[in-house]
Formats: sequence, structure tokens, C-alpha cells
Amino acid sequence: MHSIKPLPNIKDLSLDALREKFAGMGLPRYRADQVFQGLYRRGIEHFDEMTDLSVELRERLTSSFATVSLNCVEVFHSEDGTVKAVLQAHDAARIEAVLIPEPERTTLCVSTQVGCPLECDFCATGKMGFVRNLTTAEIVDQVFRMRALLDGERQITNLVFMGMGEPLLNLPNVIEALRIFLDPKGFAYGPRRITISTSGVVPKIRELLDAAPVNLAVSLHATTDEVRDVLVPLNRRFPLALLLGELRALMRQELVSKRHPVFFEYTLLADVNDSEADAHRLLQLLRGIPSKINVIPVNPHAGSIYRPPSEDAIHRFMGVLARARMPVTLRRSRGADIAAACGQLAQQKIHSQKDSPKTVKQAAQAADATIDTHEVCEK
Ligand code: SAH
Ligand code: SF4
Repeated sequence: MHSIKPLPNIKDLSLDALREKFAGMGLPRYRADQVFQGLYRRGIEHFDEMTDLSVELRERLTSSFATVSLNCVEVFHSEDGTVKAVLQAHDAARIEAVLIPEPERTTLCVSTQVGCPLECDFCATGKMGFVRNLTTAEIVDQVFRMRALLDGERQITNLVFMGMGEPLLNLPNVIEALRIFLDPKGFAYGPRRITISTSGVVPKIRELLDAAPVNLAVSLHATTDEVRDVLVPLNRRFPLALLLGELRALMRQELVSKRHPVFFEYTLLADVNDSEADAHRLLQLLRGIPSKINVIPVNPHAGSIYRPPSEDAIHRFMGVLARARMPVTLRRSRGADIAAACGQLAQQKIHSQKDSPKTVKQAAQAADATIDTHEVCEK
């Protein structure tokens, strides 16, 4: 296990911020670039392994910065290849991250908060309450900890901010992490390999897209304010007209376009939002907005009153959209057997150091899940 020190973490800093920090320490700019590339291009997490630096500088950096903010404490393997890990911060707060390997790509589902304050009615994270925002280093470290769990040559090719928390309520740290993910001297991800999902924090969407041209996903889930007010309580502050109006305004500035459509997530809940009338209303609402719709039959979890619709109902709902030539895909849940599917991430509340933490196993069992393989992470 990595040791964690109470020093400022170097992974909190984008390249510009690191250059500034190094300048303050009397170190030249190229040193910042060298260390940044060492961290993210070469994946070296300990200064003493950066052998292109003098021993003196390595020692100075070691006593000035922490490099690790999360330890991996438990790993779960699903029958379908999905891997969920529990990652623990220095204050014992725990989050979950999920790897989804597919033939052509490997996606990492990233968390941005411990818990979530928005309390969406069908979401396990929303039910656990809000603990705190993740730091930039904790967002970035999810890639380090999770790629260590991949087989052989596999790399994480795509990042989706669809884990625990609402990214736009932690925007400064999310943007700084995006700078590290996108920087050619950092992880060098293409911006279209990164998707940020929001439940609709309207005033922050523009700020995000201005700072980083990543894909935007919006969790819509309903076609009337009446229903959305219940499913996504944030709708009471930012109702549908305001949300969709802002997306139309973003189109005028080409932050949303045919080439860069909005991905709408629509979690289907039996007898709540799954009628053909809903599908027709959805088409009306999105008229003129370049859109792709991702339909997700709800993943049940303990304490949730919602159930997924029948295959027939899913088919009918999607049929209405497809006939109108709306691009629509069905997201079948992955990792449901290890409670790693959308909205099932809610392993724990805060644990004080003394508490014996409730294990993921218990959480997963509470979610009516069976665990396939469970191991303690040794990396
Ligand atoms: N807070 C952000 C991102 C995390 S949630 C957001 O809400 O967009 C990622 C996606 O999973 C969201 O679309 C969310 O609505 C969906 N989701 C939450 N709980 C779910 C559940 N039980 N079944 C299916 N999808 C769920
Ligand atoms: Fe938070 Fe997203 Fe869950 Fe809503 S769906 S409670 S915004 S994590």
C-alpha cells in the first residue's frame, strides 16, 4: 500500500499551476514539464524513481509534495468483465470507480464527490447523502489506481464522469483534472474521449465547455417538470425549459453542434416515464438540439421503489424515437452483479478512522447483488 503524507499533492496541479509553483521554488520551467511528463506520460508516481532528476532535486520534491491521494482497498470482478474498486482517501472517505472493458475500448467511470447532495430519487449515491468534494488529485488518482487493475497491454481509452457525485458541483477541481487529462504532456486524452454527465446544473454548463471541449451528457429522465421535480429534485431550481434553453444558447456559440451533440441519458422507470406519450414529448422537447439519447433501464437497489420496464415497454419507447430518426442506444447495465451499474455506487457513508467500515460485500448484498469475485487490492 502507498504511504500517504499530509503534504500538498502534486496531482492537484495542472502543468501551468506546476510551472508557477516551481517558479516560486526557484526551479526552471523545464523542470516542471519534466516532472509532469514523468508523472503522466511515464506513470512514475515516486520522485525517487525519476532518475532524470538529480538526487538532490528528487529529495527536495519528496519533502515538498505528496504524490498519492487514494489507496485501493477492495476490488470486485463482475462476470461480464466489469471491475469495481473501492478507493480510500487519507481522511478515510471512500469512493468507487468502475472499469468497463469492451473489445474496442476500456472506459473508466470516474467519481467526483463522496456521495452527492442532489438526492435523485432512483440513485443510490443520492440516497447516501453528501460528504465532500474530491480534490483534483483524487479525481486524477482514480486513473492511476484503476489502470493498475487492467490486464496486460490494455489501456484506459475513455473517461466518463458518471460515478459518484455531480461533477458540475465540483467544477474547479473537475476542470483542473480535465487539464491534466487533456494536456499533451499529461495523459493526452482526446477531448471527445471524455464525457461529463450532469443532472442539469444549468449555470455551470457553459463554464465547463468553455474550459474544456469535452462531451456533455445531460441526465434528463423525464419529459414534464412534474415528473422531473420528483426524480431529479434539482429540476425545481433549474426546470426543463431553462435547461433546454441553455443548451440551445450553447448551440448558437457552437459549443453544441451536429458534430458535438448532447448525450441525453434517460433512465427508464416502469410506469413513471416509459410511455409512448413520453417518447413523443421527448422528441418535442429536444427538437432542434443535436442530440443522442441513451436509454438506461433503471438499475434497482435497496431502498428504491423503482423497477425497470418490461422488454416490450422498452422496445415501444425506443421505437417511437427510432422512427423519428433520433439516434438512440440502449445502455444495458454492466457490473450489476457487483453493484457497479449506474446509480448503484453508494458503498458507504463517511467512516471515521475508528469505525469498522461497512464492506462493499454488505452494500452489494443489500442491493440484492451477488458477488462474483472479491479480493483485497494488493497494488
Ligand atoms: N451526477 C451526474 C453523474 C453521475 S450519475 C448525473 O446525474 O448525471 C450517472 C448516470 O446514472 C446519470 O444519468 C444518472 O441519472 C444515472 N443513474 C443514477 N441512478 C441510476 C439507476 N438506479 N439506474 C440507472 N441509471 C441511474
Ligand atoms: Fe447525484 Fe447524479 Fe445520483 Fe442525481 S443521479 S443523486 S446528481 S449522482
